[in-house]
Amino acid sequence: MMEACVGCGAVVEKIDGPSHRYMTSAPACWARYGELLGALAIEPGATATRALCVDAYAAQHPGMPGPQAIQSVGVHLLNMHGYLVQNRPVGIPQNLGLDRHKGAFHWLQPPSFAPSRTVFDVPFDAPAAEIAAAARVWAESVWAAWQPHHAQIVAWYSRYAGKRA
Ligand SMILES: [Zn+2]
Repeated sequence: MMEACVGCGAVVEKIDGPSHRYMTSAPACWARYGELLGALAIEPGATATRALCVDAYAAQHPGMPGPQAIQSVGVHLLNMHGYLVQNRPVGIPQNLGLDRHKGAFHWLQPPSFAPSRTVFDVPFDAPAAEIAAAARVWAESVWAAWQPHHAQIVAWYSRYAGKRA
């Protein structure tokens, strides 16, 4: 039996297993993401690759409207804007001081990820450079899918992150 992941749309084997509390996905997709992060955790110098994967996965599995999902998607999209558009170094999401800005973000209707890469396009048993390149293409494709909301993300970025340049 196969099923389409409710987040990224990848067609995956239907399995029983856990998924994230608000980054909802097919269990097989969540499992694959875990395998990838596990491989990156033991790869020296993979911090940037890991950040690309974390942002891409979170932005591609936005879940249902709710405070944590809204916050998560907002933070990861701002982070992606920072390095994909503003040419900041790739890194884990900065502390944007959002604790002081509760309700800073609102729900963005998720786009279709049909043309996007997914976690299944990123090998985890390949040379580090190959994984890094695939992660970057994945992140870029997810960012591109969010195009209908780029203007809103830019506005949030300039309000909450841009001044930290
Ligand atoms: Zn998925």
